[in-house]
Amino acid sequence: MNKTIFGKTGKNVTWLGMGGMRFEKEIPEKECIASIRYANELGINYFDTAPIYNEDRSEDIYGKAFNEMPRDQFLVATKGENEKSAKEIEKSIERSLKRLKVDQIDFYFLWCVIHPHQFEKAKMKGRSLEAIIKAKKKGLISHVGVSTHMYSEDIIKIVDSGLFEFIMIPYNALNFRAREEGLRYAKKHNLGTIVMNPLYGGVIPSFRDMVRIYSDSNNSPVEDALRFCLESPFIDVTLSGMNSREIVKENIKIAGRARKKSVKEQNRTAEMIESSHPSMCTSCNYCLSHCPEEINISSFMEIYNTYMLTGDKNSTRERYNWYTQFGPLYKSLKKAADCTQCGACEEECTQYLNIIERLEWIKDNLE
Ligand code: SF4
Ligand code: SF4
Repeated sequence: MNKTIFGKTGKNVTWLGMGGMRFEKEIPEKECIASIRYANELGINYFDTAPIYNEDRSEDIYGKAFNEMPRDQFLVATKGENEKSAKEIEKSIERSLKRLKVDQIDFYFLWCVIHPHQFEKAKMKGRSLEAIIKAKKKGLISHVGVSTHMYSEDIIKIVDSGLFEFIMIPYNALNFRAREEGLRYAKKHNLGTIVMNPLYGGVIPSFRDMVRIYSDSNNSPVEDALRFCLESPFIDVTLSGMNSREIVKENIKIAGRARKKSVKEQNRTAEMIESSHPSMCTSCNYCLSHCPEEINISSFMEIYNTYMLTGDKNSTRERYNWYTQFGPLYKSLKKAADCTQCGACEEECTQYLNIIERLEWIKDNLE
C-alpha cells in the first residue's frame, strides 16, 4: 500500500484511509470489526471515526477491532465538535480514548467547521480548541487538525491561522473546484491533506451504471472517482467509507493501480472531467458574489447534480437533507425559493447553466 508523509505531523500514512461512518446498524458489529482488521491486514494504516457516527457506534466498533491489532500498525483519527465548551471536549476526548482502547489519539480534529464564525468561537477562551491543545500538551493527542466544509477563501484563512498540522475537506471529481485552491494552499504550507466524500457521499457506487466521470473512460466510475483523489499530488489521504470485506478489497485494488500525477497532469485531468460534464455545476463559485439575495447557488446546484447523475428524487432529497442539516447549507437562511430570477448568476456561470430553472425544481420538489 502506497504511503506518504502526512505534512507537519511527519507520520507515514497510507494514500487510502478507512472512513468509519458507514457502519450502519443493519450491518452486524462482527462484520464491521472484520472489515477493519482486513483493511489493516491488506496495508491500510489510517482509520477515521467520530463520536456520533452511526448512532454513536463507530468508535466502539473501532475499539473492538484495535484491541486485536498491534498498536504500531494503525493510526487513528477522531474528532471533537467545534461548538462545545472546553469542559465538554475534555470529556469527549476521555470518552474517545476509552472507547477506542488507546492511550493516545494520533490525529484529533476540530470537527466540521461550516461557517467562519464557528472557527472564531472555537478559538475563544473556554471553548473547544483550548481543550484540544491542552490534551495535546498532556500527551492524550498526538497531532491536531481541522475538518471543514468551507470553500477555498476560508480554507486559506484556516491554514494561515497556523493552528493545525492537517486539514480535511469534502472533495471529489464532481465538486473539486470549490476547494481546489484551498487544498493546494494547504499542501503548499505543509499541512497533511485528507479528503472525504471521494465517492460523492455514496452516489457514485449506488448508481455506478448511470454515472460516468470521464465520457470516454472504460473504468468503473468508482475507480475513476477514487483515482482522481488518490492520484492528486495535493492529497495525502483519501478516505473511503468501507463496511464490508468486498468494498475493502475493491478499494485496495484501485489504490494499488493509482500513481501520483504531476501538477500538469492533474490540471489536465480536471479539465477532462469538466468537459465530460458540461451541463453540471463544477462548484467553481464564480456566480456566488453576483447574487443580490446571497443564495448559496453552488450548494443548490450540487444538490441538483445528484438529480442529474441519478434521475432519482429520493437520493436527491437525501443530499438536500444532508446539506441543510450538516453540510454547507446548515443554518442557511436562504432557500432556493428566495431567488428573484434576476438572472445575474446565469450571466456569470462558467458552465452556462439554467440556474433559475434548477432552483425552481428544488423549490417545487425538495423545499
Ligand atoms: S437569479 Fe436568483 S440565484 Fe441567480 S443571482 Fe438572481 S436571485 Fe440570485
Ligand atoms: S458559476 Fe455555474 S458552475 Fe460555477 S458554481 Fe456557479 S452555477 Fe456552478
